[in-house]
Amino acid sequence: MALYDFHTHSFFSDGELLPTELIRRAIVKGYSAIAITDHASASNIQSLIEQVRRDSDLVKQEWKFNVLVGVELTHCPARSISRLAAEAKEAGADIVVVHGETLVEPVPPGTNQASVECCDVDILAHPGLLTIQQAALAVENGVFLEVTSRRGHCLGNGNTVVLAREAGAKILINSDTHSPDDLHTEEFAKTVGLGAGLSALELAIVMDKNPLELLQRVVARSNR
Ligand SMILES: [Zn+2]
Ligand SMILES: [Zn+2]
Repeated sequence: MALYDFHTHSFFSDGELLPTELIRRAIVKGYSAIAITDHASASNIQSLIEQVRRDSDLVKQEWKFNVLVGVELTHCPARSISRLAAEAKEAGADIVVVHGETLVEPVPPGTNQASVECCDVDILAHPGLLTIQQAALAVENGVFLEVTSRRGHCLGNGNTVVLAREAGAKILINSDTHSPDDLHTEEFAKTVGLGAGLSALELAIVMDKNPLELLQRVVARSNR
């Protein structure tokens, strides 16, 4: 199976590494592509995208490696999510992740609902106690749901898998990397998926087919 990761942090927010070192380490681990999605709010969307884009362009040219430039909208007022997601896309973001209602932080209630209602959101990360109605809205609006290896946030993985299966929502496995050791190997990513309750067949879809669908969406958008 292929290895992808659409949710990582550089030191432009609270990660430990420069984008270039994060990318270099991802290449060595065997990733096919990664997204860098630093924590964002109205304060820093533009600057994050500009900064990470410079390294993404450099790496594409020199190492032929595909890095998606993104943001993770984090602890923003729920009513601002659609506006901020659109602003990020307007500023050139390849993908928009939203920091969902994890069980271990006081994320503003309504964040999950606002995210699955918004076509500019690509991934609802660690959605915690998502509802079946919200999983159905994720399908309708093309929002991927995240299964994560991140400590604390991973407590909601089981619920995410059960509801995604019932609603037909698409899952991605992400590392939410902040430190170099957080990056996955292919074996570890598989373990995270199986541990969350995916079947072997579902795991193949989650690791191979869903990432390609997201990458194709990004290419289609950039050609517009
Ligand atoms: Zn997050
Ligand atoms: Zn994150």
